[in-house]
Amino acid sequence: MILLRIAIDGPAGAGKSTVARIVAQKLGYTHIDTGAMYRALTLEALERSIDLENQDALVAALEDMDLTLQPGSAGNQVFIQGRDVTAQIRSPEVSEHVSLVSSHPKVRAAVVEMQQQMAKADNVVMDGRDIGTVVMPDADLKIYLDASVEVRAMRRSMELAKKGFPVSLEELVAKIRQRDEFDSTREASPLRQAEDAVVIDTTNLSVSEVVDLILAYCRGRGGHV
Ligand code: C5P
Repeated sequence: MILLRIAIDGPAGAGKSTVARIVAQKLGYTHIDTGAMYRALTLEALERSIDLENQDALVAALEDMDLTLQPGSAGNQVFIQGRDVTAQIRSPEVSEHVSLVSSHPKVRAAVVEMQQQMAKADNVVMDGRDIGTVVMPDADLKIYLDASVEVRAMRRSMELAKKGFPVSLEELVAKIRQRDEFDSTREASPLRQAEDAVVIDTTNLSVSEVVDLILAYCRGRGGHV
């Protein structure tokens, strides 16, 4: 069997996107950062002053915005109508509002449909919250990455500082807890581990250790690694 689709889920800051990007590079697969799609829609809605509670307006904005993802050396590059918004979608303002936008069932249905189309076109490593449970329930390998909230906040703070958004660690711990709580308790496809997912606790692991573990699981499942 040749492995075609790998799903990586987990809470904020568990290292999903970094690990997914490297695994995809090593396998020659396409990496799709699904959080970036919800973030891009949130940015568009904020810029156009769309009511974030109005799911029909959000779906209409998604249909109009011509959202594209391209592989980049630091992760997916994200474009709205050809405009590069890769940096803006990581702003604290977008992070603050993205869980609300992504909690609407109609928004999720539209975004999941786009993701399923992308997964049909290529071999993919897709990371998010509901990939193994909803987007690709028949993925060839499902990974659930987790880590302590303190370590996740520390990673996010370093990432944000590099991108020019310094945030205190305490504030980040509180915000990540809040986002995890919201993402795990929402009604529409909440963050949860798929029953057949392999759980990796990354608290004490380096990125390359996590990547090696995932590649070993791929080999174990007969993937061409
Ligand atoms: O992964 P990232 O932190 O960029 O995701 C941003 C937000 O997008 C999450 O907190 C969650 O609310 C939402 N999301 C989601 N489903 C996904 C990916 C992200 O609901 N598959």
